[in-house]
Amino acid sequence: MIDIGANLTHASFHDDVTDVIARAHVAGVSTIIVTGTSVEESKAAQDLASRHENLWATAGVHPHHARECNQGTLGAIKELAKHPRVVAIGECGLDFNRNYSPHPDQEKWFIAQLELGIELGKPLFLHSRDAHPRFSQIVKSVNPKKAVAHCFTGGRDELHAYVELGLYIGITGWICDERRGRHLLELVRDIPPDRLLLETDSPYLTPRDLHPQPKARRNEPAFLPHVLKAVAKALRRPHEEIAAETTRNATAFFGLNEPRPSAPEKRPLAA
Ligand SMILES: [Zn+2]
Repeated sequence: MIDIGANLTHASFHDDVTDVIARAHVAGVSTIIVTGTSVEESKAAQDLASRHENLWATAGVHPHHARECNQGTLGAIKELAKHPRVVAIGECGLDFNRNYSPHPDQEKWFIAQLELGIELGKPLFLHSRDAHPRFSQIVKSVNPKKAVAHCFTGGRDELHAYVELGLYIGITGWICDERRGRHLLELVRDIPPDRLLLETDSPYLTPRDLHPQPKARRNEPAFLPHVLKAVAKALRRPHEEIAAETTRNATAFFGLNEPRPSAPEKRPLAA
């Protein structure tokens, strides 16, 4: 399986990230896309991905950090995106739930990153929280070729709008939350099977029905099969089938099978 969104550069993984990756592997989660949320975190994600065989990274700035963006930000992301281990631009988008950055800043840097993804021919890893319909309007007007609405938690109208826009949909352990994720049990059936992706969003969103709860309630990629089983049950389909389909979708979405130039540090010296 492929965890398409894990924040493995988060401080809570600082001491044991190698064990976390090993546990994921044992659990059948062979590939992890490490989310970049700022220029600094994206650089760290890229470094981590360079050191582990089946790790990849995104490069981008989360809407929470939009207020910290400046003229140099886009160039820095563009530079990071040249690395063969960086497979998407993001996470970027709009977060009108926490509102850590003013909306005009969020929109400006969201649009800029969408355009960068298009320019570089990279898929986009998008964050949208309480930002529909503005989020949809922007995606529609900039029109990226390939993008995923990661950690989808919204309602029916929002989901249908995203599907209509051609977005892939990322489902997390939110679906295991009997208080706020119940609606997703029905809604996942409206996601086209070839556009469904799974993720943990570690260390956040530990499935609430996971027993026993992990230490400090830290989520990790090894728990992705738990999310898979919840999704498969909601779809009333065998989890092996959903695992195969979502793995195929993620491989195609991020182009993981495509030949890549070797990493700059590994390039042989000219004779
Ligand atoms: Zn997010």
